[in-house]
Amino acid sequence: MTEKLLVNPIDCEGHGTCAELLPEAIVMDEWGYPIVDPSPLSPSLVRHARAAVSACPTLALRLTRS
Ligand code: SF4
Repeated sequence: MTEKLLVNPIDCEGHGTCAELLPEAIVMDEWGYPIVDPSPLSPSLVRHARAAVSACPTLALRLTRS
């Protein structure tokens, strides 16, 4: 089982909290919106990814499993 991050661009308001908490997988674009690495997360990053998901003030970020 792998986990990936997804961002809903409609709900995202560009706060940037996610990129601060998980710079290994999320960078900000020039307008301040996140670009999420579409690759499966390495196991060592999953805990940090969950923290980023929890910290998103608009619930725009989520983890998917496959
Ligand atoms: S924390 Fe949420 S609202 Fe802020 S940039 Fe990340 S996904 Fe968007």
